[in-house]
Amino acid sequence: LKSKAKQYDKQAADVKLAAVLGAGIMGGGIAFQSASKGTPILMKDIREEGIQMGLDEASKLLGSRVAKGRMKPDQMATALNAIRPTMSYGDFGNVDIVVEAVVENPKVKHAVLAEVEGHVREDAIIASNTSTISITYLAQALKRPENFCGMHFFNPVHMMPLVEVIRGEKSSEKAIATTVAYAKKMGKTPVVVNDCPGFLVNRVLFPYFGGFARLVNMGADFQRVDKVMEKFGWPMGPAYLLDVVGLDTGHHGRDVMAEGYPDRMAEKVRTAADVMYEEGRLGQKTGKGFYAYE
Ligand code: NAD
Repeated sequence: LKSKAKQYDKQAADVKLAAVLGAGIMGGGIAFQSASKGTPILMKDIREEGIQMGLDEASKLLGSRVAKGRMKPDQMATALNAIRPTMSYGDFGNVDIVVEAVVENPKVKHAVLAEVEGHVREDAIIASNTSTISITYLAQALKRPENFCGMHFFNPVHMMPLVEVIRGEKSSEKAIATTVAYAKKMGKTPVVVNDCPGFLVNRVLFPYFGGFARLVNMGADFQRVDKVMEKFGWPMGPAYLLDVVGLDTGHHGRDVMAEGYPDRMAEKVRTAADVMYEEGRLGQKTGKGFYAYE
């Protein structure tokens, strides 16, 4: 593994300026993380409110670091200045890597990827933060698919150390190496994985959610299951985790996994999570899921 890491280090381009497309939950987090670790980042959205939400979130996170004495106020100002909000592709000719974090819709992602490729240098790397869409499939929108790979962060970006770097069929070693290096520069732990439904983490996680759902269907108390899994050593149990992830995201992820692994995941059992999803009770984002939030 160590020799592989050294090989990546040699092939990586230095990321001096990054860009993120989409200033939502993930895009805002990615911009914050990049800026606070010293890599300036352009943050593009198509909605003014989207950009404002991304900036508000970054300034809230930086403010809490200052309040906890983990950052000086002038460092906070430097980090905030390193996030450059924009509604246009004006400065994209200077970026070394673009992380695409727009809505999880294959058509929208194809259009956005083709568009951004026309505004960046020929050697710039483009990476997608998709959770469920095949990287090889997304690459079909590009003229230079070798410069493209996956860069899958977890929510909340500033807290979750792991980043999956996903190798599509045409991803070059330079694309993988540069994305690995950028993840490290952001203080994250990258793991390079192949392109398959669920990549690595969700391929493990969704069968676990399925096991949990069946237990609840059999009459188990979800709060007890959560407590037991916490005692087992996980930071949170499955019900709470589903509330954090969002019951809608969980629902969509399960469908993708069922399609990808029909032998393991396709058994159609109606669960408590399905009922909540249908009722719009989506977890923390709507104030109610398995638990109720203020
Ligand atoms: P979100 O809905 O919070 O944000 C998406 C943003 O993209 C919005 O602000 C929207 O205005 C913007 N957008 C839409 N079209 C655009 C365009 N053409 N150009 C620029 N911006 C555009 O979504 P999110 O939860 O941040 O998810 C973004 C991506 O990250 C998705 O692919 C999702 O699967 C992935 N992801 C999400 C999570 C999660 O827990 N939310 C975790 C890992 C990965």
